Amino acid sequence: MTGNPADRAGAILEIDLAGIAENWRLLARRAKPAECAAVVKADAYGLGAARVAPVLAAAGCRRFFVATIEEGIALRRVLPYPAEIAVLHGPWPGCVGDFIEFRLVPVLNDPGQIAVWRCAVTQYGGGSAMLHLDTGMARLGLTMPEFNRLADELSRPDSIRWRALMSHLACSDEPEHPLNGIQHQRFAVARQRLPGFPASLAASCGIFLGSNFHLDFVRPGAALYGLNPQPGCPNPMKQIVKLRGRILQIREVDQGQSVGYGAVHVMGSPGRLATVGVGYADGWLRSASQRASGRIGGKQVPLLGRVSMDLVVFDVSGIDPSLARPGGFVEFLDDEHGVDAAAIDAGTIGYEILTALGRRYHRIYRGANGSLC
Ligand SMILES: *Cc1c(COP(=O)(O)O)cnc(C)c1O
Repeated sequence: MTGNPADRAGAILEIDLAGIAENWRLLARRAKPAECAAVVKADAYGLGAARVAPVLAAAGCRRFFVATIEEGIALRRVLPYPAEIAVLHGPWPGCVGDFIEFRLVPVLNDPGQIAVWRCAVTQYGGGSAMLHLDTGMARLGLTMPEFNRLADELSRPDSIRWRALMSHLACSDEPEHPLNGIQHQRFAVARQRLPGFPASLAASCGIFLGSNFHLDFVRPGAALYGLNPQPGCPNPMKQIVKLRGRILQIREVDQGQSVGYGAVHVMGSPGRLATVGVGYADGWLRSASQRASGRIGGKQVPLLGRVSMDLVVFDVSGIDPSLARPGGFVEFLDDEHGVDAAAIDAGTIGYEILTALGRRYHRIYRGANGSLC
């Protein structure tokens, strides 16, 4: 007899799909009259693009961004045309046929990619693209001199159907940073040379910089998944993920007992420890060693010593033994202590916590009214 996967799971990751749709609607209202796209790269920030994207499409989202062509092909299987799927990394000669076949929209990032795509479009007869202008990231996109050289040519009727002129903000999580205004200004100047191109500048945090950053469409990712788009202010987004790990063993220890690799934590008094089946191989980052905490029955339990590959240890001395027992659970991520808080514990950002979430977790997807789906 095989059991229920949730019963044998060492850890359970719950993902609130209805909450993601709610977050998208909040951002769409905020950005209005600009359109609201959705960024579902890196498998929807680790949460499962095949589950997330159809829910967003049902909520009204028509435009999706992924990073790679492989992600685009996988997404096309669950999002039939005419849902627009744009691929941020752009095309190279070996993959233009895939862009055409799966009706993916490449983001063209340099003169070489423009040439490759124009050649493909001429050969296959028509195709859409977005143009990426670098206004201050030095990462992807045409440099300003490249843009200035090409703008006249790009403004003329073209075999490429231009779906957007876009750029990306480097410091939108810091509203006072001068680069926000500088990038906005550079982008505004560039747009004047390509008036027919829909314009897009803002990701999650950019939406909260003000309506002059919204332009024709916005491209949030992180905020859809519950990360705070206004660091330092109350988070307007709904928390999307819950993670709980199963207690494998409970032990009583004496004062002076060291805990885990490197013996970096030494008990200052006798206590009770719970060993839980979640480790850095599950994306519970080793940098959270000695710093993170879990929760049992709403009470905080400190993580002691180093995070191992498959295990962590919590101090459950103050917890009712009927709760802190083998087979019981420690909450790792919940509404009170969410992904952003876990990121602070691990010295990183919520994006990294989400995209690191492990493959060994038993996943539960919740839809409307918390129902399983
Ligand atoms: C990842 C990405 C986004 C989404 O950013 P968030 O901060 O997650 O909202 C938008 N645009 C580009 C170009 C990106 O690379």
